[in-house]
Amino acid sequence: SRDFDDDNDPGRVRVAVRLRPRNAEDLSEADFADCVELHPELKRLKLRKNNWNSESYKFDEVFTETASQKRVYEVVAKPVVESVLSGYNGTVMAYGQTGTGKTFTLGRLSKDDASERGIMVRAVEDILSNISLADTVEVSYLQLYMESIQDLLAPEKTNIPINEDHKTGEVSLPGTVTVKVRDLDQFLELLQIGEANRHSANTNLNTESSRSHAILMVFIRRSVPEIVEDDISSQDMKTKSNFPLVRKSKLLIVDLAGSERLDKSGSEGILLEEAKFINLSLTSLGKCINALAENSPHIPTRDSKLTRLLRDSFGGSARTSLIITIGPSSRHHAETTSTIMFGQRAM
Ligand code: ADP
Ligand code: MG
Repeated sequence: SRDFDDDNDPGRVRVAVRLRPRNAEDLSEADFADCVELHPELKRLKLRKNNWNSESYKFDEVFTETASQKRVYEVVAKPVVESVLSGYNGTVMAYGQTGTGKTFTLGRLSKDDASERGIMVRAVEDILSNISLADTVEVSYLQLYMESIQDLLAPEKTNIPINEDHKTGEVSLPGTVTVKVRDLDQFLELLQIGEANRHSANTNLNTESSRSHAILMVFIRRSVPEIVEDDISSQDMKTKSNFPLVRKSKLLIVDLAGSERLDKSGSEGILLEEAKFINLSLTSLGKCINALAENSPHIPTRDSKLTRLLRDSFGGSARTSLIITIGPSSRHHAETTSTIMFGQRAM
């Protein structure tokens, strides 16, 4: 069965679709019509093609507009978090047109009403309550805009390079601020600072947050006191018990740039450049997802910074969940169709 928590094929990308409730704009349309019909019990979505035809698509999960933040976390992100807690890397990402709920799903802080909180907060909360005193949790928060990485916790740091350890394949970002997380309140403050920095950085650049990718990295270090029995001499045992093994893993939570295609004929200058870079990174992400779905031995992660950054947290032993977000209105039929097609590339 294809399910979020099946363990048969940890490297494949699991895909959920989430429908945003109708908003004021949708409701104000005189000729409002839904362009999708959801069948969560079948994990299927029907996309209306025209008045007569519709096409049905299968996903690992289908969330209607009434799905709670808690349920979305538990189905989509919790299996990834559990895997990260046991020492593997993992990624949760959201893809979709601007305004369909990516940030709501991942980044929602909601200091007052915990039930409204998104995946970033819930993941860190879950991790904090599942580790022991000897373990540590650290976070970095970054923005990737026009193939340039900026530190959202220290916004003066821009153009951060991506380092890859050729022996271990480990990806790192030298110079990035990592902050040790002590408790949830402190993490909420950090995320809020990151959001404020993202907002002002984008105001300075005269662009929209929706044109950049936001990436939360959560690093876990767990000490592993148990020693594997076989083939270890008593001398080794002694050395190892003096220096308990440390198991490192990381979780990436990626709020992708809006997937909508800018009208290129009407865009020029910086807007056109932005569109090209967003195209580049989302297209190369799509190719990687496709390659994983086809069990290809070669995952083409070299083509963009986004995929280079994901390289060690994507496929293989790493668990990956993708949430595609869509709106209900047929006004956005073309964008909704392209989002659904992106999600289908993994299936
Ligand atoms: P995106 O990040 O994809 O551009 P947002 O997360 O900012 O979209 O969502 C756009 C608007 O829709 C926001 O006001 C958000 O609160 C609202 N929204 C999105 N998804 C939901 C949802 N599932 N339930 C209620 N409101 C939502
Ligand atoms: Mg957003």
